[in-house]
Amino acid sequence: MDILICEELDSPPVRKLCDKYKVIREGALWKDPARLKELSAGTRAVMVRNQTQLTAEVLSAAPNLLAIGRVGVGLDNIDVPRASELGIVVIAPLDANATSVAELAMGFMLALARKIPPGDRSTKAGGWDRKGCTGVELSGKTLALCGFGRIGKKVALLARAFGMRVIVFDPFVKADSAAIAETGAALAGKLEGALASADFISVHSPLTPETRHMFDSHAFGLMKTGAHFINTSRGGIVNETALLEALRSGRLAGAALDVRETEPPSGKIGLEQLENVILAPHIGAFTAESQARTFEAVCSDIDRILSGTPALNFVNFASPKQR
Ligand code: NAD
Repeated sequence: MDILICEELDSPPVRKLCDKYKVIREGALWKDPARLKELSAGTRAVMVRNQTQLTAEVLSAAPNLLAIGRVGVGLDNIDVPRASELGIVVIAPLDANATSVAELAMGFMLALARKIPPGDRSTKAGGWDRKGCTGVELSGKTLALCGFGRIGKKVALLARAFGMRVIVFDPFVKADSAAIAETGAALAGKLEGALASADFISVHSPLTPETRHMFDSHAFGLMKTGAHFINTSRGGIVNETALLEALRSGRLAGAALDVRETEPPSGKIGLEQLENVILAPHIGAFTAESQARTFEAVCSDIDRILSGTPALNFVNFASPKQR
């Protein structure tokens, strides 16, 4: 086998690979770790989205594996250090979906500020509740960004165009960096400083041991009463029970989540009943443009590796290393 496709992944570039190589496609393979390990052992490349867990155990048991193609950006489901030790190229087109995710974050901000989802629901139910749909403007408000990489920077530029003041918390960004100068954002030395002054908070950091449950009851307690919270990064960064409590207590005026602690969520926890909460099924990168760019980049790089040419969109090295 040349390529193992472990999730529901389909597009013209995938079909082109299927015509050229020996491919096994099992859309639900990510749900079966034992079978994933067994099939990975016999392939030269694997293609995943964010649900397949490519752990050290799976990678170590795959002696022929040359490349992992990640259709998307977050790498928390792949043990990249172990892949690198084993000489496996990790392909991920890091720029391909930043615009789509940034636009979704802005869409959430506008939808929360102008109460678009409750207005839609009540009008379709026969109501005409103009007063109940009184919102706030984004212009003149402060937006705190947690994480100021590719997506965070794009959100900052869009928010500035809406007349927002932007304050950034990112331990790896320096005050004299080009991104800070280009966006006119202010840099906060501590997350606490950014949260206390923000009307809107939007999260764009990766899920790491440091960021897991970074937004807990302490963090929500530091936010201004009436703030809006948006997460389009990774669900594990937010303690959903603490978020629910911050919404129920009125500390937060609203929240929008594209990502959840468990995906799909294993059950309802109470967020679903709240009028001021928007929930989406991890659609940040789901635009025609982003998907086309991502599939093209990943599939052409898998083709390159399998035919002995260095990859172009890699996070560790361009060519597999001998074991
Ligand atoms: P990036 O690597 O360009 O930027 C991430 C930034 O977070 C970096 O600047 C980094 O310094 C910062 N960071 C790291 N640790 C931090 C911490 N403890 N506190 C604050 N900031 C910290 O990544 P990106 O392309 O901007 O993507 C950000 C995240 O968005 C990804 O990790 C991914 O999980 C998520 N994402 C979600 C979707 C979606 O569909 N909703 C799509 C793409 C990416």
